[in-house]
Amino acid sequence: MNIGIISLSCCEGCSVQFLNMEKEILEILKYMGINNFRLAKEINEWPVEIAFVEGTPTNRDEIIKLLKIRKDSKILVALGTCAATGGVPAIVNTLEKKEAMKIYNGVPPKIPIDAKPLKYYVDVDYILYGCPFSKEELKELITSVLLGKGFRNKRYSVCVECTLRENGCLLEEGYLCMGPVTRAGCKAICPSNNTQCLGCRGPYEDANFKGHIRILLEMGFSKDEIAEAYSIFSYEELKEVIAWLKEE
Ligand code: SF4
Ligand code: SF4
Ligand code: SF4
Repeated sequence: MNIGIISLSCCEGCSVQFLNMEKEILEILKYMGINNFRLAKEINEWPVEIAFVEGTPTNRDEIIKLLKIRKDSKILVALGTCAATGGVPAIVNTLEKKEAMKIYNGVPPKIPIDAKPLKYYVDVDYILYGCPFSKEELKELITSVLLGKGFRNKRYSVCVECTLRENGCLLEEGYLCMGPVTRAGCKAICPSNNTQCLGCRGPYEDANFKGHIRILLEMGFSKDEIAEAYSIFSYEELKEVIAWLKEE
């Protein structure tokens, strides 16, 4: 089998994460060739059997590129939160221009089309969440593909991993932590290092947004602060969240 790591609009941090996996890449190379990886190879081959796609299309050419990747590859993996949920590029879809300008320090981003998850355009076989993705989950995914087994993302919150690590709770200390609504899989790395979870793995299936929002309002966070926290990694859920905020 051979793989390709291909970028659409994004920071290319997930490609860099691949490069950071020197030991693991040597292991992967025993079973798979890396045929296409612009950051690491001068000569790239096409097609590839497994396409790891980071980022998301933000113009017509990238949509065409994504459709070709899907057509030519047996397996398409959405690599990282930009590909999985729209991630950082999707911030601009859901905010008023004024709000977007505030986040980008007064410089409005030039994104000509809405940035959406890859699944809006093509069938996606596997998703690796995280900004960037978790190395452990990538290893699990590759093992599953090689053995022809299924791969399932975690369907519980970062709080579960955080509690298992016996961390103190930053939400209880007054910080706006997105852990209760965010998909586990990162071993709660941020709260384990005394920083609140920003929600970079996106929401999980049964996330209780209403409960989380009520707690944050009771803690004294403003509706704007809550909407801003949700706007970073919850593209698909934000409309619903804003509707609830208006009701509260
Ligand atoms: S998921 Fe994060 S690290 Fe990966 S490409 Fe997107 S912004 Fe960069
Ligand atoms: S610190 Fe955050 S992630 Fe950890 S238990 Fe508290 S709310 Fe959950
Ligand atoms: S703790 Fe939250 S912000 Fe940090 S890596 Fe995990 S999901 Fe992302």
